[in-house]
Amino acid sequence: MNTRRTFVASSVAATMAGPLLAAEGAAGTSAGTGRKTIETDVLVCGGGCAGTAAALSAARHGARTLLVEKAPFAGGIITSVGLPYFDGISNIGDHRVVVKGIALELLSKTGVCAPDAQVIKPHNPTIPNTFEFKVLLDRELQAQKDRLTVLYNSFACEAESSNGRIRNVTIANKDGLVTVRPKVVIDCTGDADVAAWAGTPTEQSAEVQPLTLHFRIGGVKPAKGIGGLCRESLVKAQALGELPYFYGPGVMFLFGKDEVYVHGIRVPANPTDAADLSRAEMQGRADALAMHKAWKRDIPAFADSYFLEAYPWIGVRESRRLIGQHVLNEKEIMGGRRFPDAIATGCWYLDLHPNKTTLGSANDFKPEKVQPGPYDIPYRSLVPQKIENLLVAGRCHSATRGAHASTRVTVTAMALGEAAGCAAALSLKNSTNVAELDGQKVREVLTTVNAGPFTDAA
Ligand SMILES: Cc1cc2nc3c(=O)[nH]c(=O)nc-3n(C[C@H](O)[C@H](O)[C@H](O)COP(=O)(O)OP(=O)(O)OC[C@H]3O[C@@H](n4cnc5c(N)ncnc54)[C@H](O)[C@@H]3O)c2cc1C
Repeated sequence: MNTRRTFVASSVAATMAGPLLAAEGAAGTSAGTGRKTIETDVLVCGGGCAGTAAALSAARHGARTLLVEKAPFAGGIITSVGLPYFDGISNIGDHRVVVKGIALELLSKTGVCAPDAQVIKPHNPTIPNTFEFKVLLDRELQAQKDRLTVLYNSFACEAESSNGRIRNVTIANKDGLVTVRPKVVIDCTGDADVAAWAGTPTEQSAEVQPLTLHFRIGGVKPAKGIGGLCRESLVKAQALGELPYFYGPGVMFLFGKDEVYVHGIRVPANPTDAADLSRAEMQGRADALAMHKAWKRDIPAFADSYFLEAYPWIGVRESRRLIGQHVLNEKEIMGGRRFPDAIATGCWYLDLHPNKTTLGSANDFKPEKVQPGPYDIPYRSLVPQKIENLLVAGRCHSATRGAHASTRVTVTAMALGEAAGCAAALSLKNSTNVAELDGQKVREVLTTVNAGPFTDAA
């Protein structure tokens, strides 16, 4: 008996109506495993900054798309560690907006700027509420429901490839193990999970940037010099053996008058090692409580404070990166190298957090040495060497460690995701593999939807 269920998403060329269709015993099933099978044009793995933009972009450009995300919500770091910043949207020097498209659309829908904003104050444009952003993303994804299916609580856990193509991706969720048969895969897991499992070259530096759990404390009395007091208290806590590392400490009255949002935790770990990642989660939580305890003990402004919440998981800044057709490097970024196949514009500084305690700022760099002007990111830095139907977008795209320290920020990740979604849909329309697609053509299509790149724009 054939117990598999198959969901068929027809090709972009076909007339499409309604969500992915369920069909018992349809073509592509095999008997015996009881597994569900889903066929789709584009599979986006990871619904973070890059993946949400990739899924929206692929669907809006006409591709039947499936988005799988391990969290019960989209947004990645913005929603899972409560990070409200849209960094990378505008140039440091003249505040010119250098990423438009989906990133600017989302930012404007939070009420922070106009949909056609040309100038935005560059450092930390802050969205007012990351929960509302979660709901905004739900709505934007649901608005594409004719072409886009979203599976939250779904972890991509295996990729099978043969003859240079990914054939199946296994996801695990409440349906059990599910086989997805995609025409194109976009890996937006942040960790290049799918690329690594599919067998195309990836790399991870021996040392990666530290992990950080963000948390909030309520009932704090705003007081002059509170940042310095928090820092002194943490220096003391560290000397007492209560806290291994910290930075900043990044204590900000961001979301409420008596509430601080803290991003001073620093946990060195290997985020692609399940056991070490679990250790880091536990260390992050322990450090959050240790920080609050120290401040309550040492600082009168914290006397009546209470621990509001820590976000669901610790944030990962750096892990595996694709070694793609082009590995973007920091010289190219700092030198402003132009690429004919540029599909996105970056502008953030080379923001590399060290695995040690730093007081005040997050790193020891001199800004003038690490601050580029707006720079090109080529399509080929999304394209793997060995798999013809895979793109890798977001912080795990192909870049050196130094270059990634700039391209990893939220808005640049969204721009890369949007480009990948556009390329996936274009490849299907043109019956070409994404690996063979001309990046200049992707750029042309992105221009028609005002998504950039905007490197040279006046
Ligand atoms: C603590 C911290 C602070 C930061 N501060 C800033 C800042 O101030 N400004 C700024 O612009 N940037 C900041 N960044 C960087 C930025 O947030 C990220 O680099 C950016 O989110 C990258 O986007 P992404 O889509 O590649 O990854 P993410 O946003 O991390 O998204 C990856 C998504 O993939 C999902 N996923 C992972 N593996 C799987 C899998 N196997 N199957 C299914 N789903 C999977 C994850 O749940 C996640 O939703 C910070 C990052 C961290 C960690």
